Amino acid sequence: MYFIDPHIHMISRVTDDYHRMALSGCVALSEPAFWAGFDRNSAEGFRDYFHHLTDIEPKRAALFGIRHYSWLCINAKEAENVSLSREVIKLIPEFLDKPNVLGIGEIGLNKNTRNEATIFQEHLDLAAKTNELILIHTPHLEDKYKGTRMIIDMLQNDSRVLPHRVLVDHVEEHTVRLALDGGFWCAMTLYPTTKCTPARAADILEMVGTDRIMANSAGDWGKSDPLAVPELVLELRRRGHPEETIRKVVYDNPLAFWRQCSRWKEWPGQAKDRNGVASDLVVGVEG
Ligand SMILES: [Zn+2]
Repeated sequence: MYFIDPHIHMISRVTDDYHRMALSGCVALSEPAFWAGFDRNSAEGFRDYFHHLTDIEPKRAALFGIRHYSWLCINAKEAENVSLSREVIKLIPEFLDKPNVLGIGEIGLNKNTRNEATIFQEHLDLAAKTNELILIHTPHLEDKYKGTRMIIDMLQNDSRVLPHRVLVDHVEEHTVRLALDGGFWCAMTLYPTTKCTPARAADILEMVGTDRIMANSAGDWGKSDPLAVPELVLELRRRGHPEETIRKVVYDNPLAFWRQCSRWKEWPGQAKDRNGVASDLVVGVEG
């Protein structure tokens, strides 16, 4: 089955991961801007990083027939430095016309501080002014529920934010309804041991259904698995879910969310159906 990994940090993965992902059926992925494992000293460091996300990494992915998309922001950890964050937000528009950019992300909260909230709202302002999709990181720490609640309140307090153009990521059993009931898209992050395992993700899907929900590996420099999405496919098959249901989660849904981006270009081989909606058939994957 073809699949999409809508959240993976390929900058910190080796080329062999692209190879294995392609062999497992990965046809596209998206890479949100994130914390590099260390705090960067200047906005110029981010300029280089955005160049990497919008130019270098798509070329590496293309060697394996995988389409590479990206999201731009300064992440919540570094957002504690408000003046640096503002400099980074100022340089984002330079990169917004790159063909692989899907929007602003992953923005959110880490320790739910006032500075993080300020910079989160300034990203929302940029997204509203530039009509960009938004990808939200919800905290992994023990106050995940509180952080998710704060984020959703800030989204709902900004009347310019359209919920169907926002994806709330890293949802778990106790936060998935907050996202879905607010009309947002959401994603479950599959980690091999901690956080949401493929079995827990399958349980969540059985609980809430398959509308506006997807799954990702969030693979990065930590212990993580670039083949986590196909692991979920196996788990859902083992439980007897039909192939269309599985494909909706791992392929149709991420594509439907991404297609709202104003720069979106359909892939060759995707036919339009009678309603003018591109079908989900990829006939031949080109780099
Ligand atoms: Zn991430």
